Amino acid sequence: MIIILLGLPGSGKGTQGKRLANSLNISHISTGDILRKMADGNDKEAKSLNDYMSHGKLIPDDLMNKVVAKYLSTVVNNSCLLDGYPRNLLQAEFLSTVIDNRQIQVIYFNIEDDVALARISGRFICKDCGKIYNDFNLNPKVHNICDVCGSMQFIRRLDDATDTVSCRIKEYHLETYPLIDYYIKQGNLHSIDANKGFVEITMELEFLLKNI
Ligand code: AMP
Repeated sequence: MIIILLGLPGSGKGTQGKRLANSLNISHISTGDILRKMADGNDKEAKSLNDYMSHGKLIPDDLMNKVVAKYLSTVVNNSCLLDGYPRNLLQAEFLSTVIDNRQIQVIYFNIEDDVALARISGRFICKDCGKIYNDFNLNPKVHNICDVCGSMQFIRRLDDATDTVSCRIKEYHLETYPLIDYYIKQGNLHSIDANKGFVEITMELEFLLKNI
């Protein structure tokens, strides 16, 4: 089964995606994480990726489709979790040429814009392992020490700055939102209330997955 997580930046899909992939023992393919690694350089491609991402713009579909197809070809047992892809109808159409739609289940993290915005303003990440934390509701158990890898280095994403987040939310409504109808029509969209807290969302997800 391929699980797609769909939702606004700040909806919790990154945090839940990592946890879920771990507990199901499947690959977690986060296009945002992949792109941030690809953008971490000085070559032309890295600079161009940085330019798109720092303005909250989507990366061109051709490149995204190529990257995802490459990762999908390495997946074990045809199971993985896709976090951040597809992001628009063209990507969804491409995905349906690579994966049979009957293998796909989509979890839609339904959240209000202002709740997502507030969450992003508190988000910080372990520099070494990528574990996501939040000033408001998800701090490390021991102050300043990552629960997972023990690192003491944390960063905030540059594209989490308020101006860029507003652009990302606009892009989401324009480009990504139509996917909800697309997957409703395919009969494989499941909605969860992502306005809730971390523990409640975790419980709702677990219940949902048992019943898919
Ligand atoms: P995320 O970590 O999923 O919020 O993604 C961070 C940024 O990476 C987005 O704002 C886009 O610029 C880019 N990105 C991630 N996934 C995609 C995608 N499927 N298509 C286009 N751009 C993407």
